[in-house]
Amino acid sequence: MSIAENLAWVRERMEIACRRCGRNPEEVRLVAVSKTKPVAAIEEAIVAGQKLFGESYVQEFVDKKNAVAGAAEWHFVGALQSNKVKYLAGQVTLIHSVDRLHLAEEISRQWGRIGESVELLIEVNLGHEATKSGTSEEELASLVRGIALLPHLKIRGLMALPPYCDDPEEIRPFFRELRRLAGYLTTLAIPGVEMRELSMGMTHDFEAAIEEGATLVRVGTAIFGERGKR
Ligand SMILES: *Cc1c(COP(=O)(O)O)cnc(C)c1O
Repeated sequence: MSIAENLAWVRERMEIACRRCGRNPEEVRLVAVSKTKPVAAIEEAIVAGQKLFGESYVQEFVDKKNAVAGAAEWHFVGALQSNKVKYLAGQVTLIHSVDRLHLAEEISRQWGRIGESVELLIEVNLGHEATKSGTSEEELASLVRGIALLPHLKIRGLMALPPYCDDPEEIRPFFRELRRLAGYLTTLAIPGVEMRELSMGMTHDFEAAIEEGATLVRVGTAIFGERGKR
């Protein structure tokens, strides 16, 4: 199957999932995760109508963004080291993976240098997985309060990368939990914080994520095919 056919198939499944739970398909955006994939694949997706892409590795992203012909919007979805943030400033519209104050301070500093602001999501480690990034549920509210005080940043929601299970139904409770946490943060009414976005769901489980309230699904493999080891 071509990238265009894969995209059409993913979009159709997104629409069906929306219809099944009574959501407006326009509420859910598809982030085409193009990490490790070549510029030509991204350009093929752009020609097929995809505008929004997600990347996970800073150097690879910068190289590819400069090479891609055609208009694209970029999100950063991967684990982010503070010393790499300077290369992202002004290059992405949303960072999905902010999980510590020090990182947010550096993002604030780098966007401040160019006189702009950036939107970000707070990544939550729902499975208490030691190997994964993300703040714990216990620390979430205090982290959000701390980040909300920084200039040049807008907190717009939450992101999660739940533990992998073969059966997407086993992942559903994690999606539900992320939505509950966003609702809880909304009740705290922290100035400047808006819980508009829930970034959850990947190739394997994006339909369940949509049914549980995802507004951004991050899909790689179903669009671009399997990735080799990096
Ligand atoms: C790679 C990646 C994805 C895409 O995963 P697929 O299973 O290929 O759809 C989504 N989110 C993040 C954070 C990723 O790193």
